[in-house]
Amino acid sequence: MSLRRSGRLIKATTTNTTVVPKQTDQLNDSTTTRPIKKEKKRQRSSSLSQPVVSKPTIKKEKSKPVTIKRTKIQNQFNEPANWKIVYERIREYRKTVSAPVDTMGCERLAEEQVPEKVSRFQTLVSLMLSSQTKDTVTSAAVKTLQSSLPGGLTLNSIIQVDEKVLDTYIKSVGFHNRKAKYIKDTAIILRDKYNGDIPDTIEGLTSLPGVGPKMGYLALQCAWKINAGIGVDVHVHRISNRLGWCDTVNGQPEDTRKQLESWLPKEYWRPINPLLVGFGQVTCLPRGPKCDECPVNDLCPSAVTAMKKVKKLKKELITDQENHVKVKLEEVEQDIKSVEFTGEHEPKFIKTEDSPLDW
Ligand code: SF4
Repeated sequence: MSLRRSGRLIKATTTNTTVVPKQTDQLNDSTTTRPIKKEKKRQRSSSLSQPVVSKPTIKKEKSKPVTIKRTKIQNQFNEPANWKIVYERIREYRKTVSAPVDTMGCERLAEEQVPEKVSRFQTLVSLMLSSQTKDTVTSAAVKTLQSSLPGGLTLNSIIQVDEKVLDTYIKSVGFHNRKAKYIKDTAIILRDKYNGDIPDTIEGLTSLPGVGPKMGYLALQCAWKINAGIGVDVHVHRISNRLGWCDTVNGQPEDTRKQLESWLPKEYWRPINPLLVGFGQVTCLPRGPKCDECPVNDLCPSAVTAMKKVKKLKKELITDQENHVKVKLEEVEQDIKSVEFTGEHEPKFIKTEDSPLDW
């Protein structure tokens, strides 16, 4: 058998281990050593996978599907130490530092000179427009509706207006298409089921399209003066965790609401929302909180005080031998106190599938 042919034979049989002895026979007939070398090498490498060799073989574990357990979030939380001091300090601080929510929050957007029913409806519409939208943008959109809709922002004007026209009025807010539909549908439900007014229960409010618990509790507080629960938005959810007022880093704003309500006295349920929303807009920011200038950084579990070395130029006036006054500059190291954000206690995510427009 020719060399080329025997080589081809090896190639043709390498995929079938049961014919290896035949190959060897054929190779023994040949006069060349090259294919034998190849075969030896192949045998050596294949022998590594045999159980008889001394070297331990590493068995590949079959990868199992990973199950991610959702942590059970408790509804109760123990009253945190120092919470009153922290609350009062933030309240005092907020008097000196204004935030968009102070002038453009949803509770301030309804017109004053309108019947109460209309005012309540305007508050609900403002809340529906506010989700995932900055206060400044929400405020401008509400003002456009108040001034552009024939007869102003009322239940009837919303029922009358074409959905596409409504959408153009609110096009600056997030999810405006969906919100235009939700607001139109809500107006019809309110006319047919609630005598043209907004519901005065959390169940009634959250049954409306696009209205979740946060909007519902805020609407009850602002429109009906009913204090049935805390309105927990992303700011309240985030800051409450950072301050150690709840432990819902793996949970949702609804979990935060339940834990806060388990220990926070009821008279705080309404003011805590604008207090922390404004604090979150200007100081305890989602990214890069200003811990250095925060009034509670010594009590916040999400901040640490560290000493930093900084280089400074020290200036000194000296007089030389010829009586000339000169400035001597010297670089010196100084220890300065700085407060850093640890990034601990950060809520991980907010599930939005159930109620995408509630936050
Ligand atoms: S110390 Fe930092 S994380 Fe803590 S409340 Fe103040 S700004 Fe927020």
